[in-house]
Parts: sequence; C-alpha cells; structure tokens
Amino acid sequence: MPTSSRPIYRFAPSPNGHLHLGHALSGLLNFEAARHTGGRFLLRIEDIDIVRCTQELTREMLEDLSWLGLSWEEPVRRQSENFNDYRATLARLDDMGLLYRGYLTRSEIKAHVAASEARGKPWPRDPDGVPLYPGDRAVLDAAEIEARRRCDAPFALRLHMKKALARMGRPLTWREEGSGPHGENGLLAAAPALWGDVVLARKDTPTSYHLSVVVDDALQGITQVMRGQDLFFATAVHRLLQALLDLPEPVYHHHRLILGPDGRKLSKSSRDTALRELRAAGHTPAEIRAMVGLR
Ligand code: GLU
Repeated sequence: MPTSSRPIYRFAPSPNGHLHLGHALSGLLNFEAARHTGGRFLLRIEDIDIVRCTQELTREMLEDLSWLGLSWEEPVRRQSENFNDYRATLARLDDMGLLYRGYLTRSEIKAHVAASEARGKPWPRDPDGVPLYPGDRAVLDAAEIEARRRCDAPFALRLHMKKALARMGRPLTWREEGSGPHGENGLLAAAPALWGDVVLARKDTPTSYHLSVVVDDALQGITQVMRGQDLFFATAVHRLLQALLDLPEPVYHHHRLILGPDGRKLSKSSRDTALRELRAAGHTPAEIRAMVGLR
C-alpha cells in the first residue's frame, strides 16, 4: 500500500500513573487495527502535566507496553518536548480573537456556582460534570480584573465558545465507527457548546489536553482516533478546533471501557488492575488479553 493511503493509528497514554487494563484494551485495539489494515501505529506520550508525569513513569509505561506485545514507530512524540507547537497554535487562535484570559481560581468558581445554586438556579455543567466557566466579569469587578492583569496573576487561556461557533457558522459533525448510534451516513452531530469556554492553556502549562491532542493528531497525520468511550463527548471540542484551524478530520472510534467491580471506570491509582501488578503476580500477556475480552 502506498504510504500516503495507509491508515495511521495512535495510542496516546498519559504517564501520570501506571497503566491498567483499560489502557491494555485501548493499546491492543489500536495496534491490532493497524496490523489488520496494513496501517501504521504510533505511540504518543501525553505528558503536558510535567509534575505528575515523571520520566520514571514514562519508562515503566513503555516497558509495560512492550511486555504486552506492542511495538511502535520511533521517534515517539512526547508532548512535553513540543510546547512550541502548542504556543504557535494558540497564537493563531488569538489572532482570530477567540482566546481570553480567565483569572478565576477554582475556589472562586466553586463559590460562585454554589451561591447561584443556593438561590435555586442549577448551574450548567459540561459532559464531565464540571461547572461551565462563569466568566471573570460575573465574579470580579473591573478593578480587580485590572489588578490581576497588572500583577501578572496566573491565568488560563480559554476559548470564547460563542465567538468560535459564530465564526464556524455551520454545524459540525464527525464520523464515528465505534459501536452505538452513528447518525446519518455514519456522521454524528458535534455539540461543542456543551463544554462552554474550554481551557486551551492551563495556568501551569502552556497547553491543555484538548489543544495538544488536536495539534498532535494533525502533525502526526493521524487518520484513525480510536480511544475510550469516556472521550466521546470531547470529540466535539476537537472537531471545532480542527475546523477553526483548518486541520484534517480523522475518523473516530470510541471503544468500550473496562469497568471495575464498582461499575466505575478504572483509575490509575487502583493497584489490582495495574499491568505491572498483574505481571508481578505471574499473569501472561495472553491472560491480559483474555481479561480485557480480546481473543
Ligand atoms: N491521554 C489521554 C488519556 O490517557 C488519551 C487521549 C486521546 O486518546 O485522545 O486518557
């Protein structure tokens, strides 16, 4: 197959803890889909959180994935080494007038939302259950905003969702190949407005999950985004950013999640489903495959 028409898959874990069975499923699905379609398989390390994502965890993550039987193309892209790519993209969005500085702290947002809810008005929340950003002016007076600006108080860069949607001016869709309803002709309607003014650069790092995933999928030429169902709704934000930035649109496939005995998504802190623990207890990669429901 000519290189240009080969599908390109990626697995993009964050080394902020040890990989668990859910990662094994996602990694294996991507790796095998690439094999079966004659495609390429890339690994990307999503380590924008440079405090929680350590070198040691990254090394152990690569070791766990090799043990499981995965192999990938080199060099591996590490987000922490590419902050300039995200800065350049932020500058483009800023030139379009779509970014603003949000100075509110978490506790200020929380207090504002609680006060509003105490008055009997439910506060809108994003698909992850996080309250939408109220906007600095709803909480702080103009003098306080100016004071924070002057003393270089930490701020997050947020996407002005209303302006971004107005600039788009057309409904957005994405092609979903995972199980579940696929809308018309396999196209699903994307609803980015549900997320409000999403953070594109956090206070502590010059990017965010949404921004870096979109930039990297484009830079790496990813054609197939296969990832857990927990990121299904985030796809709407990714499609919006792709459209604003004129980036190609990958095909999406959101797969089932591995749930713990409590029916909840696995977490990196639960030891009994960590690949390292299972391996230390004598389980083989074939047994891991069986545990995640693969033959
Ligand atoms: N880094 C994300 C995670 O570990 C996955 C990002 C993606 O696949 O889009 O959950």
